[in-house]
Amino acid sequence: MSSFEASLEYAQGLDQTDILFPFRERFHFPQHEGRDVYYFCGNSLGLQPKMVSYLMQKELEDWAKHGVEGHFNAAMPWLSYHKFFAERLAKIVGAVKDEVVAMNTLTVNLHLLLLSFYRPQNGRYKILMEAGAFPSDQYAMETQVRMHGFDPYDAIIEIAPREGAHTIEESDILDAIAHAGDSLAVVIMGGVNYYTGQYFDINKITAAAHAVGAYAGFDLAHAVGNIPLHLHDWHVDFACWCSYKYLNSGPGGVGGVYVHEKYGNDPYFFRLAGWWGNEEKTRFKMQKGFIPQKGAASWQMSNAPVFNMVAHNASLDIFDKAGMKELQEKSRRLTGYLEFLLKKLTNLSFEIITPSDPEQRGCQLSMLFADRGREIFDTLTANGVIADWREPNVIRVAPVPLYNTFEDVYMLYEIMSSI
Ligand SMILES: *Cc1c(COP(=O)(O)O)cnc(C)c1O
Repeated sequence: MSSFEASLEYAQGLDQTDILFPFRERFHFPQHEGRDVYYFCGNSLGLQPKMVSYLMQKELEDWAKHGVEGHFNAAMPWLSYHKFFAERLAKIVGAVKDEVVAMNTLTVNLHLLLLSFYRPQNGRYKILMEAGAFPSDQYAMETQVRMHGFDPYDAIIEIAPREGAHTIEESDILDAIAHAGDSLAVVIMGGVNYYTGQYFDINKITAAAHAVGAYAGFDLAHAVGNIPLHLHDWHVDFACWCSYKYLNSGPGGVGGVYVHEKYGNDPYFFRLAGWWGNEEKTRFKMQKGFIPQKGAASWQMSNAPVFNMVAHNASLDIFDKAGMKELQEKSRRLTGYLEFLLKKLTNLSFEIITPSDPEQRGCQLSMLFADRGREIFDTLTANGVIADWREPNVIRVAPVPLYNTFEDVYMLYEIMSSI
């Protein structure tokens, strides 16, 4: 990494040898003064794949042409629409096909999974999570705990960074799990923390949770499509994610769920039921008595929101063509280059609070400013940079390997160095 250079020609040279460079062409870029913005917000809302409008039009035509018969006769029959996603999603999260399903949205799925996996009994009632988790996750845990009659201050164990630190020590997480022992029901962590960009070792945390008899679940909002995952091999019990961040599936896009097959294939494992989770052969018999189909798909309640899944389809195709391994390789170089350049800036006073170890992060870097943070952010915006502002003083930037270039990264540096 020390061989990087801080020049536009050098950055453009890296783009020329980047095998993923052509994928940029598959996305729409917002415009600023007649050219593409420098878009670093793929961790918040991914860009629109150009194929989306074509595929959406096709779906509308199928509806116009077939009406209800589109359930069978549409190019992608709506009756089994959710099934078109499992294989591609399974590759992205490292699962067996039956272990994943695209459904609902993230916080809803988190609650549904907790209804299955958080069932306090015999003194085992605690939930362990990272302090400073995304607010929606905090609200979800708080109300789940209350629903079972517990006090969140007692039942939720939060692991915080040590005094003066920004990221959490892995050993503190593992020690806290061991210490909670048989009072612990579920460990639920983000795969990547949304604020600091810290990646938590899912494999080790899962093993630690299992060692005390607790379930391990993960909110992968900032990990999916960002870091290669191996949920099945890591024996993760359950996970969920949204698709509008790195998965580029549009605002409010359909979420995803992973449930390990040992629960998915157990018809007696509790899940809230709806007709779409029922086994297919009896789904339309309209009889009493829920019989779950195999796998994560049995957590589905309603039929698939087809129009909300069109962008997901377009985007997963792109991921399939690019490959998670290739994406990670580029991601490490791209983010490494960004880090190299940011460390050269002497005119601004800030600290990168994302871990410098590439094993402990994805593509995002979070800069904590000593002062002038908001002013710097506004200057970036005025210069055609789309980044993300977080109170009190953090700018998050995420160079996304699917569509960001080394030139984008260099230009961010150049704009920042002229402030
Ligand atoms: C983005 C994000 C959410 C958003 O939840 P929705 O239900 O999709 O609105 C929740 N949790 C985390 C960790 C996130 O990063």
